[in-house]
Amino acid sequence: MDKGLSLGIDLGGTKILAVLANSDMKPLAEAKSSTRIVPDPAMIAEQIKETGFEVLRGINASIDDVSVIGVAVPSSVDPRTGDCVHSPNLGLKNYSLKKHLEKFFGRDVYLANDGNCGVLAEFHAGAARGFNSVVAYFVGTGLGGGIIIDGKLLVGNGGIAGELGHTIVKYGGRKCNCGNKGCLEAYCSKAGFVKAIQRNIDGKGLKCSVGKFIKNGNIKSRYLALAYENLDPAVCRAVNNGIKMLGAAAASHVSTVAPECIILGGGVVEAIGDEFMEIFIESFKEHLFGIKPSEIAVRRASLGDSAVAIGATILAAKKGKI
Ligand SMILES: [Zn+2]
Repeated sequence: MDKGLSLGIDLGGTKILAVLANSDMKPLAEAKSSTRIVPDPAMIAEQIKETGFEVLRGINASIDDVSVIGVAVPSSVDPRTGDCVHSPNLGLKNYSLKKHLEKFFGRDVYLANDGNCGVLAEFHAGAARGFNSVVAYFVGTGLGGGIIIDGKLLVGNGGIAGELGHTIVKYGGRKCNCGNKGCLEAYCSKAGFVKAIQRNIDGKGLKCSVGKFIKNGNIKSRYLALAYENLDPAVCRAVNNGIKMLGAAAASHVSTVAPECIILGGGVVEAIGDEFMEIFIESFKEHLFGIKPSEIAVRRASLGDSAVAIGATILAAKKGKI
């Protein structure tokens, strides 16, 4: 019997998180598994399915209790097809994730970009509740983002609106994983911090205590935060510079879309906490144009690690009309 449950699944680079929510969009249960990066997209779809069924088993529910499914993907989603735009990281070229998941689950499946799902969750159920226009940044391995204007998610031409991490903040600057140079993500994300830390050690001869924790160009947020707290010179320089770049970029985004609220979330913001917020706000205020800092709320995201999956349940409940 269909109990009107919504299943939301966050397909991340390191983990897949599934959340089950009731018809009032209240989360009931969650299940997590590690993402196995495999070259075969059908196997990624299989992992999504497994994690979805795991959360159902956790509360003795079945797929028959679920009305609709939302999946957050680390890719733009084409508003015309509702499917992932070619995502090299996921190996999804010429593969319809939407179609395959609908076949697996026997339900309608709606896809959205992960940063967009994050802002959707904070807007409906988190720190941005009560505002009409919100810009959110999620600082993790990369830098995700999302924009809600007058209550509606901005997707734009080809679904690429809200890719805030790929705002160019320095002409000809540091190479980003997207292939461009000078993107915000190349300065303010764990991937960017790690590159800067290595440069600070090799080029500037700064001392660093976290070298052994850097693996495959990445570092766990808690190790980064610990080194930051202990005033590690190479880490502090990299992180502070990145946060200031984010503050300046956010001020530029204000002059483009004029939000009432800025949300900062993701593993790095959670781990570093108040100091991240303080440095951000100082740079943000310094670069604002045409509006007083007191007229824009700056808040930390409140839904933590589950935000994106919760956003995917909202995406599902609203049948993709976000
Ligand atoms: Zn980029």
